[in-house]
Amino acid sequence: MLFCLFFSLLLLFASISCQVQNDRGEKKKSPGQSETVQEQEKDNDHEDMEKDQKSTGQEEEGAPEEKPGTMPPELLVHKPNELGEIMILMYHEIGYPESEWRRTPENFRRDLEILYEQGYRSISLTDLVRGNINIPAGTSPVVLTFDDGNKGNFYYQEKNSELEIAPDCAVAIMKSFYKEKPDFGLAATFFIYFPNPFRESQYIEEKLNYLAAKGFEIGNHTYGHANLSHLGSAEIQRELAQHVQATRKYVPGYEVNSLALPYGSYPRENFELLRQGSYEGITYRHEAVLLVGSNPSLSPFHKKFNSSRLPRIRASELKTDGVGLYDWLEYFGQNPHKRYISDGDPRYITVPESLKDLLNEEVLGEKEARFYAN
Ligand SMILES: [Zn+2]
Repeated sequence: MLFCLFFSLLLLFASISCQVQNDRGEKKKSPGQSETVQEQEKDNDHEDMEKDQKSTGQEEEGAPEEKPGTMPPELLVHKPNELGEIMILMYHEIGYPESEWRRTPENFRRDLEILYEQGYRSISLTDLVRGNINIPAGTSPVVLTFDDGNKGNFYYQEKNSELEIAPDCAVAIMKSFYKEKPDFGLAATFFIYFPNPFRESQYIEEKLNYLAAKGFEIGNHTYGHANLSHLGSAEIQRELAQHVQATRKYVPGYEVNSLALPYGSYPRENFELLRQGSYEGITYRHEAVLLVGSNPSLSPFHKKFNSSRLPRIRASELKTDGVGLYDWLEYFGQNPHKRYISDGDPRYITVPESLKDLLNEEVLGEKEARFYAN
């Protein structure tokens, strides 16, 4: 049955090959399209044929019934669910000894290995909130975040009278893991505060520029690690704007676009000032505001996704109250239908039919929704 359908599609494909070539020519020219997408297109001939057939099917007698937004059957094995939940992991210090707020380098490395083995791939926080999730079919996104800019996140050491990034700090561990498993991705947000992020005052400029150049993100954690629930509106704006100003002093033009709330505390009123505001001519705008929290985030395509209150999961094994990283890994292992699973094609948002009503079509932009019976 499947073979017959495929064969008739092939015939159709041959008869309209000129049109197909035109369509494809245009597709490849579209601006900003990454190599990965093009590669995926190559692997997706079946789907292209369906689309091409869609555009000309009306003229063809007896052409199979069109089904807009149908998922290629070979994807079914992955059970893609782009409305599933996504873990945003919260780390603090990397170092010794292991504690509630400190992960050893060995344990951090193990976290990455286990995440990788279980099909997680790292994406940036910005890509999460913008819905730019471009990972292979069957894998799940995960976002790594580090609060406080402790030394163990990023420090230098001397080796043979040369300066190098210490191999046990978070940045070096992520880099070396990425070298081993490039498909894991290299992305994390460092929520730092001032005046001495990463605790080596002589290297602040070098480190912040290094992070920005490597595609890591620098996030707002207020200028001085302030408890925002104690502050009035002018002070809130001062704390947030001064962070942006200090970051730009070291990395000119850098756009700080996310905020992690120190202590997870937020003001009862003026919540909107966490998103955007200004102080003495310095403005800030955060696309994401992160809580401490204990749950995975909703998908950015979910109707209830709220980028102003994103929960995070503690990447720890001590005092996690049953809601730490390993608890959630176990949960998603037992409840795979709850987890965001990519369809491998950023042009589409693929969702099981039963969740259709939860899709926020307003954020799809150029993307097309497709559904499958589950
Ligand atoms: Zn903090």
